[in-house]
Amino acid sequence: MAGPALTYDAIILGAGAAGMMAASAAGQRGRRILLADHADAPGKKILISGGGRCNFTNLRAGPDNYLSANPHFARSALARYTPADFLELVESYGIAWHEKTLGQLFCDGSARQVVAMLLDQCERGSVELKLGHGASAIDHADGQFRLALGTGIVSAPRLVIATGGPSIPKMGATGFAYDVARRFGLKVVEPRPALVPLTLGGDETLFRDLSGVATEVVASAGTGRFREAALFTHRGLSGPAILQASSYWRHGEEVAIDFLPDRAGGWLVEEKRARPTATIRSTLGQALPDRLAETLAERLALTGNLADLSDKALASAEVRLAGWTFRPNGTEGFAKAEVTIGGVATDGLSQKTLEAKTVPGLHFIGEGVDVTGWLGGYNFQWAWASGVACGEAL
Ligand SMILES: Cc1cc2nc3c(=O)[nH]c(=O)nc-3n(C[C@H](O)[C@H](O)[C@H](O)COP(=O)(O)OP(=O)(O)OC[C@H]3O[C@@H](n4cnc5c(N)ncnc54)[C@H](O)[C@@H]3O)c2cc1C
Repeated sequence: MAGPALTYDAIILGAGAAGMMAASAAGQRGRRILLADHADAPGKKILISGGGRCNFTNLRAGPDNYLSANPHFARSALARYTPADFLELVESYGIAWHEKTLGQLFCDGSARQVVAMLLDQCERGSVELKLGHGASAIDHADGQFRLALGTGIVSAPRLVIATGGPSIPKMGATGFAYDVARRFGLKVVEPRPALVPLTLGGDETLFRDLSGVATEVVASAGTGRFREAALFTHRGLSGPAILQASSYWRHGEEVAIDFLPDRAGGWLVEEKRARPTATIRSTLGQALPDRLAETLAERLALTGNLADLSDKALASAEVRLAGWTFRPNGTEGFAKAEVTIGGVATDGLSQKTLEAKTVPGLHFIGEGVDVTGWLGGYNFQWAWASGVACGEAL
């Protein structure tokens, strides 16, 4: 890469949640920052997040709400920049917000307010924003990173990769962070779609007829267990409980659903005593959406009145209803995944500054790193916290 370069203290690639946060933190500390993005507008995922209202943090966010090959890695950054810190920033801009459920904070108005706030924060730090330019080449020599960006060349002693993960590629999401990491000899934990609907096939295709039916369940996969709504779709299973469980699910494994999480053990036998002329179908219909009750009753294949069924048969139906197992044949993939699990391996990064241990000056932040939050504002909180941790070290 020949020719003179425009020089900065740091170049940040990716003007998303983490990149804007890092840029503003560093810029406001007097650093000369270039923030570049190949998209034509910053923060596109913020704009579509939370149904346009951006679930910008979660009051309960802590290290236990994140998946990573090293579950302790996120601890430091999350402790130094908390949900209360981000909320303080939001309130300082007069952005009205509300808690929806489970500690999830949303804008009352629009996600645009969050993007405008972050841009204003960047402006206060005199951050130079360059849109519509991806880096076509990166050189590293004599402690300087040199990048071909559009038609020009830029250089800095620090380079921050804040280009996110490949979920929703049609929005310009890429696996660029992984390419850069590999190129500099860092490991990448296999990226896969997370917070993603699961697909059903084979014998379970029948459940797709329930498309549109939703109910509150407890969904479990691996070590994940979530009580929220599940939704049947024309391809399989979705809804918050399933999206959460999908992050813990691996191909070939089962997802277990408790369709009646409030029922105590022995409830069906008690129903039999209380309402002997009821059927399984009508009993389930009291607690579950009609079409779901019908399908489950069919599958349980227990016909006749409850009085005609043995206590043993009812007890085993109860066990099935409390742990109905599905064996998804896949997910709806990166096209529909809210986040990517896996990413740049944390053992190669400093917990404090997100700098690569073997490449001084190279930082990775946000979703590109192998830290993935639950559904509900946790992923933005990681983007803010990792952005600030890095921005304070630039
Ligand atoms: C539909 C949807 C809804 C979501 N809702 C929520 C929510 O409500 N709450 C929550 O916490 N999380 C939510 N998320 C997840 C959240 O959006 C991400 O975890 C978060 O945006 C990650 O921040 P980031 O800065 O790491 O990456 P991003 O915000 O994705 O930013 C990455 C930036 O890098 C740019 N880029 C990519 N490749 C290159 C390249 N090669 N060169 C230059 N620039 C590049 C992109 O254009 C983008 O601007 C949602 C995600 C989706 C898809």
